[in-house]
Formats: sequence, structure tokens, C-alpha cells
Amino acid sequence: MVKTCMFCYLCDLMAFIITKKFTFEAAHFIPAFADGHKCRRMHGHSFRVEIKVKGEADEKMGILMDFADIKAVVKPYIDYLDHDCLNTLAERDNIPLLKNPTSENICVWLFRQIKPELPMLHSVVVHETCTSACEYME
Ligand SMILES: [Zn+2]
Repeated sequence: MVKTCMFCYLCDLMAFIITKKFTFEAAHFIPAFADGHKCRRMHGHSFRVEIKVKGEADEKMGILMDFADIKAVVKPYIDYLDHDCLNTLAERDNIPLLKNPTSENICVWLFRQIKPELPMLHSVVVHETCTSACEYME
């Protein structure tokens, strides 16, 4: 069966990506960097996270997913990371990925935590500064 677009009824495009944004404050250092690299020293970021969900919109509701349902899944993980040192969390709770808490590893960790509860998860973006970000998808 060919589905038609709910907006124009001419095309069969039904896929959407919606984004819910979160923020958390955390300290970290990157032990994989060489001695003398500034990222090896303890420092902090106001991390911004984008959770992207992909799928088809419900034709009757006209939405892909309620943003509140995304928040309900993701917020506990954001709260877990917020106002802590990521390296300390990783040691305390034995999270190998976060023992070297780069943006890339934070993306992967968040993706793997969230995906089982949010099957339409498309990607996770972590911004560690205004100009530096990483996006992960499987
Ligand atoms: Zn950093």
C-alpha cells in the first residue's frame, strides 16, 4: 500500500525527524590526550544534547511522537550526568565508555541507554561548546 503525504496528498514522503534538546553541566578530563593537552586537565562544559527521533507521523494525530514522551525517557539520564564529574561517575558506577568522556563516548553511551526505551531513536548529538559537537547514530 502506498501512503500519501498528509500535507500535500501528492507525494509518499512520510518520514520526519523531530528533535528534543536538553542541557547538563558537568566536569571532565580526557585521559587519552597526551600530557600537556588542555583537555587532559579537569574542566567543565555546559553540555547541550539533542535527541533525534525518526519515523512516520501518525496520520490522525499529525505528530511523530509527543515531545513529553521523549523527555520522560531521556531526562533521567541527563539528570544522572548533571552537576558531576563524568570521570568520577564512570569509576563509581563502572561505565567503561565514560572513563574517557569525550563527546563521542557520551553520545554512544546516551544512545545505548536510550535506544531500548525509544526504538525510533535516530541519533544523539552532544555539543560541548558553541562550536564543537558530535552526532552518533547506529
Ligand atoms: Zn572538555
